[in-house]
Amino acid sequence: MPKYAICLQHKSLTFRASHFVSWLTSESRRIHVEPMHEHTFRVRATIEGPLNQHEFVVDFVAALRHLECICKNLDQKILLPFNNDDLRVKVADGNVTLRFDRDIWDFEPFALEFDPYEKIWSYPEQAVQWFPCANATAESIAACIAQHFRSELLACQSFAFQPDQYTIRLELEEFPGCWAIVVI
Ligand SMILES: [Zn+2]
Repeated sequence: MPKYAICLQHKSLTFRASHFVSWLTSESRRIHVEPMHEHTFRVRATIEGPLNQHEFVVDFVAALRHLECICKNLDQKILLPFNNDDLRVKVADGNVTLRFDRDIWDFEPFALEFDPYEKIWSYPEQAVQWFPCANATAESIAACIAQHFRSELLACQSFAFQPDQYTIRLELEEFPGCWAIVVI
C-alpha cells in the first residue's frame, strides 16, 4: 500500500523571534545562560495520512493558512520557557521580569534589557510568548507549533479519518541549515 503525505514549505512560514537557552554546568551549581538573541525561524510541515474519498490527505490551502497564522502569532515575540527551575518569573504592571536564582557561569548579558547587578531581564508582557518547557530550544518550539497545528486541523475537521491515523512532522530551522524536527 502506498503511503501519502503533503508537505508545506513556503516563504510565509517564517517568523522572527528571540530566545535564550540555559543549561547546568557539569558541577551542577552554576548555569550557562545564553544572551537573549533573535533568529529568523523557518517552518516546514509534513502531514502523513490516508487519502480521503476525494483522494487527498488534507486540504493544502487550509493547512497552509493555519500554519501561517501560527507563525504570524510568534513573529516579533520573545519566546520564554514556563518550566525553567532556575528562572523566577514575575508579571506585574504589564511587564515580565526574569531573574536567575543560581550563580551564573559565562553569562553573556549583552541585551539592553539586562541589569547585570540584579541579574534581571524585563520585557513588556504583550511581547512574550510562553512555552511549557524548561528551555525554549528549537526542538521545544517545534513541538509546541506541531501540537498547536494539530489542534487547529482537528478543530476544523481537516482529518477525514481517526486522528491517530495522521502524523505531523514539524521542522524548524534556527540557523541556515540547522533544523530541529519533531514528529507527533
Ligand atoms: Zn538561538
